[in-house]
Amino acid sequence: MLTLPTYEDVTAAAARLQGQAHRTPVMRSRTADQRLGASVFFKCENFQRMGAFKFRGAFNALSRFSAAQRQAGVITFSSGNHAQAIALSARLLGIPATILMPLDAPPSKIEATKGYGAEVILFDRYQCDREALTTELAAQRGLTLIPPYDHADVIAGQGTAAKELFEEVGALDFLLVPLGGGGLLAGSALSARALAPACQVYGVEPLAGNDGQQSFRSGAIVHIETPKTIADGAQTQHLGQYTFGIIRRDGHDVLTASDAQLVEAMRFFAERMKMLVEPTGCLGFAAACHAGLPLAGKRVGVLLSGGNVDLRRFGELLAA
Ligand SMILES: *Cc1c(COP(=O)(O)O)cnc(C)c1O
Repeated sequence: MLTLPTYEDVTAAAARLQGQAHRTPVMRSRTADQRLGASVFFKCENFQRMGAFKFRGAFNALSRFSAAQRQAGVITFSSGNHAQAIALSARLLGIPATILMPLDAPPSKIEATKGYGAEVILFDRYQCDREALTTELAAQRGLTLIPPYDHADVIAGQGTAAKELFEEVGALDFLLVPLGGGGLLAGSALSARALAPACQVYGVEPLAGNDGQQSFRSGAIVHIETPKTIADGAQTQHLGQYTFGIIRRDGHDVLTASDAQLVEAMRFFAERMKMLVEPTGCLGFAAACHAGLPLAGKRVGVLLSGGNVDLRRFGELLAA
């Protein structure tokens, strides 16, 4: 039996992150409120250290390493933000980091990861099983694997973003959260359950890969091929055991957003709110605008999960 993390773990993570992670701002927009006929609260993790919420889970997990684990080092696989999060956290804590990244990850993310001092190993995500490759390397080199989402300490750390949101703005009727492997959604659901039990928590994933929706609705984890979408932070093939357990228990449903809707949301954030939000970070707001939820007159939290996008790519997406 799996022991799922609890809200107490989120609280403990918040204490470890104190003074290390930013307490990111909650932003408002009259245009967004008018458009949705609702009160919308954007939790801006695009302003988190290294540009995404993933710093929270990574730092929390590495903080719990024993002296022997710290000395040997950490290994992980990631399409980008988790890689940077582990690399930065490892540097802050003086732990060596080895990171497997897909060949087609955004160059800015690969460079940033190397910049934090991690050893980066590139692989072809359409050809090889990254989890198997990582496990093999971990065993060979005696490294501790911290996966991007299916880990109790990672989930607990990610839950601190929604915890801050509820503590700052009070109860919400809806919370919309980008969904890849489910660490952010599971952590958010733990915080919602403790701090705003009536809040309906939704995951939002790319339309091109709705494994989370299928899994949530069928009650069993569904595996898919790597989806082709501009939401590179949510190109996951399946939920994890821990994340699925929590999402199924505490989540309300899983929605989807198309790439075109993500571009529209990116444009909105840039034009109206003067913010750079990466495609994956736009999933929640895209669903708020298009998924047909009954938001009128409600208090709606939207988690903006990250802001790491190459500027050239950003320009291309908006110009298309
Ligand atoms: C990783 C990531 C996600 C998805 O998070 P999961 O915990 O895998 O569900 C969403 N947005 C951004 C910006 C990410 O980096």
